[in-house]
Amino acid sequence: MNHKKALVCGAGGFIGGHLVNRLKSEGYYVVGVDVKNNEYGNNSADEFIIGDLRDPKIVEEIISGKNFTEIYQLAADMGGAGYIFTGNHDADVMHNSALCNLNVLESAKNAGVKKIFYSSSACMYPEYNQMDPNNPKCSEESAYPAAPDSEYGWEKLFSERLYFAYNRNYGIDVKVARFHNIFGPQGTWTGGKEKAPAAMCRKAAEAADGTSIEVWGDGQQTRSFLYIDECVEGVRRLMESDFAGPVNIGSEEMISINDFAKMAIEISGKTLSINNITGPTGVRGRNSDNDLLKAKLNWEPSQSLRIGMEKTYQWIAKQIEAKQAVAVEA
Ligand code: NAD
Repeated sequence: MNHKKALVCGAGGFIGGHLVNRLKSEGYYVVGVDVKNNEYGNNSADEFIIGDLRDPKIVEEIISGKNFTEIYQLAADMGGAGYIFTGNHDADVMHNSALCNLNVLESAKNAGVKKIFYSSSACMYPEYNQMDPNNPKCSEESAYPAAPDSEYGWEKLFSERLYFAYNRNYGIDVKVARFHNIFGPQGTWTGGKEKAPAAMCRKAAEAADGTSIEVWGDGQQTRSFLYIDECVEGVRRLMESDFAGPVNIGSEEMISINDFAKMAIEISGKTLSINNITGPTGVRGRNSDNDLLKAKLNWEPSQSLRIGMEKTYQWIAKQIEAKQAVAVEA
């Protein structure tokens, strides 16, 4: 019998929902917590608590005396470039996410939880190493001197340090991953918090044949994108390893944003042109560096970006159809 009992914080979100499924498939008893239900019904947790992790009393109630063998802390106030890089949400992002991390760690310590995973982000890497779109540097040791280009990145850096401080002072086994643009079905695809892969798919799926789609910036900025299943695989491998991190969990298949838009257009089967417009873009170039991941976990993601985008496109196209059907009925 498997006695493993996990708490997934942020289980109502994209990665949290998929992580719950994975833990369930491994025989865990899973408790999920979030301020909201999973938007797309991706919720297989044994118990799901609606709770605000910014409130220390609520967090204490959720964790204290519940004998969790491990906690996955993914709750954060986050979104894509339209949310993170406009500056309009900086105070909320820092305040809300830092409180979640402070409270979860403190209650985990009080309850004697042995192991905790934290999802940091590639957004904590210094901007000065990501100015050349063709040659960005995001190896783990390049994090300092710190100079993230967003407050979201600064909060991630602070919280990474917080986790390692709890490790040093209280002996909690912490595992810290720096995710690089995770995408896939059942992720936010509309409403302003969506990220580039979902936005590209949505724009291509919604556009009438022969028209154009808008892409922020000159489109020469580069990124890499990791499919959700491989992200969750990396999280589980890190959790079972004897390595604390921080370690990148991302893909090394770098692509320019215009080529990425072209990929979405090709998948849609339509003839669409790209209209580059002014918009929030973040750093000029970013790619995962998986040397440390390979060395420590003896593993790296291998699925092509195109395969993941095809799956994501199909899912988003279905969401759009369902929405249109509801609109017609109303
Ligand atoms: P998401 O927004 O879908 O999930 C985060 C969840 O946290 C949401 O469901 C939200 O409601 C919840 N949450 C926020 N504040 C809360 C609070 N006060 N109390 C309880 N729940 C709260 O985002 P995601 O893409 O699933 O990301 C999960 C984690 O991975 C986040 O920490 C994020 O910063 C990190 N990350 C994600 C990516 C990516 O590409 N998706 C990249 C780097 C890092």
